[in-house]
Amino acid sequence: MAGKLLVYVEVLEGTPAEHSLELLGKAKELATKAGLGVGAILVGHGVRRVAEEVVYRGAEEVHVVDDPRLATYSVLPYTDAAAEVIRNVGPEIVLFSATTTGRELAPRIAARLRTGITADCTDVDIGDWVDPATGRRYERVLYQLRPTFGGEIMAAIVTPWHRPQMATVRPGLFPVPPRDPSRTGRVVEWSAEIEESSLEAAEVIEVRRETRKVDLRSARIIVAGGRGCGAKGFELVRELAKALNAEVGASRAAVDAGLIPYDHQVGLTGQTVKPEVYIAVGISGAIQHVVGMKDSKVVIAVNRDPEAPIFRVADYGIVGDLFAVLPKLIERLGKRR
Ligand SMILES: Cc1cc2nc3c(=O)[nH]c(=O)nc-3n(C[C@H](O)[C@H](O)[C@H](O)COP(=O)(O)OP(=O)(O)OC[C@H]3O[C@@H](n4cnc5c(N)ncnc54)[C@H](O)[C@@H]3O)c2cc1C
Repeated sequence: MAGKLLVYVEVLEGTPAEHSLELLGKAKELATKAGLGVGAILVGHGVRRVAEEVVYRGAEEVHVVDDPRLATYSVLPYTDAAAEVIRNVGPEIVLFSATTTGRELAPRIAARLRTGITADCTDVDIGDWVDPATGRRYERVLYQLRPTFGGEIMAAIVTPWHRPQMATVRPGLFPVPPRDPSRTGRVVEWSAEIEESSLEAAEVIEVRRETRKVDLRSARIIVAGGRGCGAKGFELVRELAKALNAEVGASRAAVDAGLIPYDHQVGLTGQTVKPEVYIAVGISGAIQHVVGMKDSKVVIAVNRDPEAPIFRVADYGIVGDLFAVLPKLIERLGKRR
């Protein structure tokens, strides 16, 4: 093996988080491509018992820090514990989900290890990279892909001179790998190297869990409305969604206009979705919206402007006024029932 690719696996209520497993699946794909071993890091209390589950999902080795002092997540003790394991294992690459925890933890660990990090990637790849200044070739370079300059361009960011290469990657982009209980792997237990000052820095008084009210990521059909809908158009969007048993999505402009809460926003600063069918109504198709829905299986767009960029990503386009088109669709669906 040329080295290791590790994934930081978050544990939620005694099970590995789905977004971490998605990332593990992607990590395995990259590791195979580059001839790397794929492993996981588990930090917390009571996490040792999920190590096998992580193996069943594809990890060849799992590094575990299980300590009662880590029973409640707190960024500094977790940084101490995870950074020490990573320093000792010496991987080529470490990936985190771009969740609240991942976004908070990963940059601190990167700073401790004196390496770079790219936040909120929408994809990752691996390959050789040639330094244009020197002509020198670097192997097993992580391509950290993400929109930049407000989404105007896609950047491929590389960290050729430092190890590990680190990135946080958006949840919801990759499929969860299948569970195979016949897989075997090595579990390595580490003692937690935690500074007293890290434990004293914050006292967690209470943990409150809030479940997302709108689950767009697992929706089969999404009807999304944009600024073009206005309040009246959104009533039709909701009606169409109801007729199709679909979730309601939205553009940021619709959210900013107060037409619908942020929980429904799709795009760069909202959720990334990939339903079977995505119906975009009164949405122009700005790149910041498109990055969040472009992997939908079938995209249908309703827009009165035939030049609207949304038609470039749509499989089916209806050029017309939504106030004429949507009532007809709703009526037709009603009749079919
Ligand atoms: C850093 C950054 C992050 C961003 N993040 C996001 C994000 O996560 N998600 C997101 O969506 N945007 C995001 N944006 C904003 C994005 O650039 C666009 O401004 C936004 O997507 C536009 O929303 P819209 O398509 O609803 O509105 P508009 O661009 O105003 O489009 C409205 C469309 O409705 C059509 N229309 C109007 N009336 C009718 C009608 N009666 N019938 C049919 N069609 C009609 C028009 O032809 C037009 O195409 C971000 C921007 C930046 C800079």
